[in-house]
Amino acid sequence: MKTLQELTRPNIWNLKPYSSARDEYKGLTASVFLDANENPYNSPNNRYPDPSQHELKVKLAGFKKVLPEQIFLGNGSDEAIDLVFRAFCEPGQDNVVAIDPTYGMYQVCADVNNVEYRKVILDESFRFSAEKLLAAADDRTKLIFLCSPNNPTGNELPRDEVEKVIKRFDGLVILDEAYNDFSSVPSMLAHLGKYPNLVVFQTFSKAWASAAIRLGMAFTSPDIIALLNKIKYPYNVNLLTQKEGLNVLNKYHMTERWIKELIDARGPLMRDFEKLRCVEKVFPSDANFFLVRVTDAVKIYNYLVSLGIIVRNRHTVALCGNCLRITVGACEENVRLIEALNKYRT
Ligand SMILES: *Cc1c(COP(=O)(O)O)cnc(C)c1O
Repeated sequence: MKTLQELTRPNIWNLKPYSSARDEYKGLTASVFLDANENPYNSPNNRYPDPSQHELKVKLAGFKKVLPEQIFLGNGSDEAIDLVFRAFCEPGQDNVVAIDPTYGMYQVCADVNNVEYRKVILDESFRFSAEKLLAAADDRTKLIFLCSPNNPTGNELPRDEVEKVIKRFDGLVILDEAYNDFSSVPSMLAHLGKYPNLVVFQTFSKAWASAAIRLGMAFTSPDIIALLNKIKYPYNVNLLTQKEGLNVLNKYHMTERWIKELIDARGPLMRDFEKLRCVEKVFPSDANFFLVRVTDAVKIYNYLVSLGIIVRNRHTVALCGNCLRITVGACEENVRLIEALNKYRT
């Protein structure tokens, strides 16, 4: 791995971050707060939230078996994706490499930041080769994006290939584990100590059923976390979100139950799809969604919309011609979907 200074944009390395009122005074003993021009009324929303999200990070650290200093929290994973571009990629000069197809936000953030985005196509079974991916990288490649289980294909990437990339790449490997809770393959979090260039993204939006609160997580070395904290908006995670994040962690038994329900529903729903006349192929899934190749994705998508049922049309995505991405829903939703597709006539 290159040194962190070599990987970081010079302006970011040298940046002196904004120091907020709550950064400068962190003690718990004070009872008169006249430092932040806050309004004394309308408690508790009158006060700025903790910019370091300390309580939430301590709770999460225990849960994930990492140090609080290894956690970045953001306004969804989307914030973390944007921040790694802003921290490491010099616009117009540096580039990133990613598997294709994958989650669309990596390319959007690359484009917004004017960073070249190099796509390496998966094979027909949606597998990737470390060799091919590394061959696309050069000395201006700062980041490699991997997503496992991958969106929209639904499959886990082979772990040995993932580790090969991490071992051989001299920049940072961003491994997006948004759907890991639905997979039987364990998270790579346990390997953070072994791989200083590994950055793992997770989110409260999927298994934790909290997309509305916008809470994303990045886990990596304390040095890289400090860099991301330096450039984030000071109060990027609001008070309501920090509180609800703690709530969700405190009722983890609910999350566990939801995950089990969804995994249990996935297999039968996929088998129902295999029996449909309009379905040509159901791709294997390690996530809470799966990809299906149908006879005519656009027609079937529009037919479902006309019945008030929305799935994701991935027809225009690489390797996903005539494919729809189906999220596993509640039992009644899945039944309505299958009933509608049973009645579909070409
Ligand atoms: C849904 C999803 C996320 C979650 O993004 P948030 O901004 O945290 O809601 C992240 N990565 C992938 C691949 C996803 O599909």
